[in-house]
Amino acid sequence: MALYSEKVMDHFRNPRNVGVIENADAVGEVGNLKCGDIMRMYLKIDDDTITDVKFETFGCASAIASSSMATELIKGKPLSEAMELTNQAVAESLDGLPDYKMHCSVLAQEAIESAINDYYDKHPEKRKDQTDG
Ligand SMILES: [Zn+2]
Repeated sequence: MALYSEKVMDHFRNPRNVGVIENADAVGEVGNLKCGDIMRMYLKIDDDTITDVKFETFGCASAIASSSMATELIKGKPLSEAMELTNQAVAESLDGLPDYKMHCSVLAQEAIESAINDYYDKHPEKRKDQTDG
């Protein structure tokens, strides 16, 4: 049995949306110590919709494939929808990840969250459903 699905290998070999967005509206950066993955995500946001997304990942095959798939899943989506993207959804879209590599898909989810929070920090008036919690 192959360790990685074909989709993981495809996104690892040909990652989508790799790079940097100059003058991005939001940037998120996260890392994990387990594989030493570092992920940076850039968002271009227009009218609460993610019009462009790029990422840089220094990490293992799963982290690169997860970032690539995650950017495909949130591109063109409203912020509220991107915020709800789970790492399970990313892993499922890749036809699964080995259990011990699931934390790499968590990293992609956290990078998106971090970028969106960066946007809301810069534009507090955009934050909806605000709670004190
Ligand atoms: Zn990893």
